[in-house]
Amino acid sequence: MDLALDLRARSRGEVLEPKDEGYETARAAYNALATGKPACILRPAGLRDIVAAVRWAAEVDLPVGVRGGGHSVAGHSSPEGALLIDLSHWRGAVVDPVAQTADALGGSRLMDLDAATAAHTLAAPSGTFIDTGIGGLTLTGGISWILSSQGFACDALVGAQLVTVDGHVIDVDEDHEPELLWGLRGGGGNFGIVTHLRYALTAVPRMYGGAMRYRGDGIRDVILRVLEIESTAPDELVMAIVAWRGEDGSPGISVNFAWRGDPDAGAAAVRSLTRHPALFESDVKAMSWLQQQAQYEPIPFGLRQYWKGHLAGRVDDSLADALVAAASDAGGSSFCLVELIHGMAHRIPQESAAFGGRAAVANVTALAIWNEARDDEREIAWARRFADSVAHLSLRGGGYLNYPEMDQSAARVAAAFPPESWERLRQLKLRLDPSNRLRFNANIPPRG
Ligand SMILES: Cc1cc2nc3c(=O)[nH]c(=O)nc-3n(C[C@H](O)[C@H](O)[C@H](O)COP(=O)(O)OP(=O)(O)OC[C@H]3O[C@@H](n4cnc5c(N)ncnc54)[C@H](O)[C@@H]3O)c2cc1C
Repeated sequence: MDLALDLRARSRGEVLEPKDEGYETARAAYNALATGKPACILRPAGLRDIVAAVRWAAEVDLPVGVRGGGHSVAGHSSPEGALLIDLSHWRGAVVDPVAQTADALGGSRLMDLDAATAAHTLAAPSGTFIDTGIGGLTLTGGISWILSSQGFACDALVGAQLVTVDGHVIDVDEDHEPELLWGLRGGGGNFGIVTHLRYALTAVPRMYGGAMRYRGDGIRDVILRVLEIESTAPDELVMAIVAWRGEDGSPGISVNFAWRGDPDAGAAAVRSLTRHPALFESDVKAMSWLQQQAQYEPIPFGLRQYWKGHLAGRVDDSLADALVAAASDAGGSSFCLVELIHGMAHRIPQESAAFGGRAAVANVTALAIWNEARDDEREIAWARRFADSVAHLSLRGGGYLNYPEMDQSAARVAAAFPPESWERLRQLKLRLDPSNRLRFNANIPPRG
């Protein structure tokens, strides 16, 4: 049977199969290690195409994958042998400034959402790289520069439209399908194809922040000072530590931070870091929300990547030791990242979202990024070694599911959730996708 011919007959969208020009570009993953080849790719022209395609996939017994912004590091959006519903062209967001909400299409990038909200001096908590997709990011958590005052991106998700694997279109909000809304806030792409996401927005008139870089003997002390500031930090402050190896082979760290509000208060909050003797470079300024979001250069598709880490339930001096050791040993483009979590991210009740990392005080991950296949073994071993070295700080033995390792085990996925949430998610999966057709994700197996 010619699979693509059959699907073409049922949809108005573009259908690509391996022999078609454009297929390779459409299936290419962010991570060059992810080589999965979908049986066919549908770029839907409208909602009806998605409905027809999932019904067809059920008839021919094909699993279904979804692509939003295509940034899955584990290659989930290049699903081997599946029907891939590619929403990467479904982009754009509309803001209701009175209700302070934004409706975004399921394949939008952060930049689409940010540009639309910033025009009204509003913002949604999302992420820190403007080219990442809002789909995967929001459904699986979402760590942004307003994390401490607004919570995770999934906490701002107040509604969605979703196509189930059996072709039903469901409008989800607190009044209709509250259990599904709960599941979409952290349960990932397990429950359907999300065509629209609705966010609650917040006013963000100004930001202050940037990056400060340190090297030499004092870097361990800088890390400890960051942890000390974090222990009493107000909701306005969000900080991350990046540990890397410099061109001269010695370890260095950057402290990236964002302050929501008055620049003078922001400067005061990090004063002990700006005066530290190990500081050699600083790029810190007052800015708008859109400038804040454009701070990081996008990382191009096609590099080799392996990320692994833990959601940390506590941090102590051993984290500083692990960071300095890993930085001393890192490949040229690889680094360790510690995203610190406090404030509103902790205060939002655990029951309001499936997201399982709320009790974590940090997302601690090694990001190995390199070019040549000959370095695969060394780079992957480096990332695993770092993850092992911080495992004693882990909340439950799992990492942040938006930063998945290529070979993530089912046990590590389950460990990302408290047991009661995991059970609830499995029941929800049983209702919406009992045959686990949507399995290219941080997979939640249907309750058997
Ligand atoms: C360079 C880079 C920077 C990043 N920065 C951050 C950051 O600052 N904060 C943060 O929290 N995370 C960050 N991430 C992680 C990011 O959240 C994940 O990579 C996420 O998967 C990106 O979403 P996407 O839509 O682009 O992914 P895709 O690869 O398109 O999708 C991944 C999976 O998400 C699900 N999915 C995506 N869209 C939909 C949809 N519309 N309907 C149903 N399921 C869907 C599917 O299961 C899919 O397989 C970053 C990743 C990269 C590569």
